[in-house]
Amino acid sequence: MRLSRYFLPILREVPKEAEIVSHRLMLRAGMIRQESAGIYAWLPLGKRVLDKICNVIREEQNRSGAIEIMMPTIQSADLWRESGRYDDYGKEMLRIKDRHERDMLYGPTNEEMLTEIVRAYVKSYKDLPLNLYHIQWKFRDEVRPRFGVMRSREFLMKDAYSIDLDFENAVIAYNRMFVAYLRTFARLGLKAIPMVADTGPIGGNHSHEFIILASTGESQVFCHSDYLEMDTPGSDVDFQDPSSLQTIVNRWTSLYAATEEKHDEAAFAAIPDGQRLSARGIEVGHIFYFGTKYSEPMNATVAGPDGVERPVHMGSYGIGPSRLAAAIIEASHDENGIIWPEAIAPFRVGLLNLKVGDAATDAACDAIYAELVSRNIDVLYDDTDERPGSKFATADLIGLPWQIIVGPKGLANGMVELKRRADGSRETLPITAALARIIG
Ligand code: ATP
Ligand code: MG
Repeated sequence: MRLSRYFLPILREVPKEAEIVSHRLMLRAGMIRQESAGIYAWLPLGKRVLDKICNVIREEQNRSGAIEIMMPTIQSADLWRESGRYDDYGKEMLRIKDRHERDMLYGPTNEEMLTEIVRAYVKSYKDLPLNLYHIQWKFRDEVRPRFGVMRSREFLMKDAYSIDLDFENAVIAYNRMFVAYLRTFARLGLKAIPMVADTGPIGGNHSHEFIILASTGESQVFCHSDYLEMDTPGSDVDFQDPSSLQTIVNRWTSLYAATEEKHDEAAFAAIPDGQRLSARGIEVGHIFYFGTKYSEPMNATVAGPDGVERPVHMGSYGIGPSRLAAAIIEASHDENGIIWPEAIAPFRVGLLNLKVGDAATDAACDAIYAELVSRNIDVLYDDTDERPGSKFATADLIGLPWQIIVGPKGLANGMVELKRRADGSRETLPITAALARIIG
């Protein structure tokens, strides 16, 4: 992409309305624009990041055996009357009437709809296990939308729903998602800690919130510091093998980790001195086994091997990609701007032409640009006539992991500069060597 042809509305001044660093940086980097309270448009740079986050999530969901679908944002109130949640949900739900005065709503979540789909098609234990997910916009009329896309009213969610014959199989499904989540957050460059969460009337211990530590987080959390050093499962995890999944889950739940609601002072005090971590955290995901809570009232049953019909056991598994974009910035930035992990950077490479109009510099940049494009490497070519200082500032603000800096002085000796955003290191080297470093 040539910056001169792109749409990147950078703000030089710090927006006053933004209270936390990720919100400030997303506005300054031209990623998002507020359209009304808690409702945001995603501008090109933000959209690229959001898509990349979704793709990592999608790859790991698919790897674990979940299957992607797409349910609508608008739902019928009747479905929610079946589960009894239409009246229970409260003011967070946006209720709508269509032209025939029928009650509709903008989905805050999709348990009912998914249960309806299962009820229609899934008849036998032989159709199970099944896990269906979608990545779709949700609306919750939050009392206090704030911190930009961190707590917005309209937000993107990946929500998966597992369907199983009984509790034992539902636990296997739960573990699959648990492990898929560990992999997903690690690939996004985050250290997310699974913390015991509320199961409500269901009971049991199959509810975890995945939390990343950040001073601006909304929850108070308590955990063993070893979680920050734990290895995440590799891409060779066998999602078909329940016992290896259970081993991973056991390890990741063996140490103390809880949010304020489930905090146990005595268990926390038992952690050895120096390893007790009490911090603020951001919830980026939540997995939850809820058994027959919806299948029973909504009559979603399957026949078991004995021919007896029984309500299916379900769980739901959420991740907020739009909140994640902000959470990743909270975890990875410096005074100059965002530091994107490579996996989700809007562009992997920034190509900075320090003297647009100089024939040799233009020719070198064009050649580098063509080479990167031909190798399918996302590159943002700054071919504008801004001053070098402003180009450096922009590339750092928007957080491009690799920056190739090309100017007439270096080129006279056949050299360019290669900068790594993560640590600010710079190296002068020949063009081919710089490209080799990036292409690997
Ligand atoms: P919170 O306690 O932060 O309100 P929640 O418990 O309501 O979250 P879930 O219903 O479990 O959240 O939703 C799954 C995921 O969706 C959350 O882990 C989070 O990543 C995301 N999410 C929930 N509410 C919002 C919101 N208002 N804005 C952005 N993302 C959200
Ligand atoms: Mg909520």
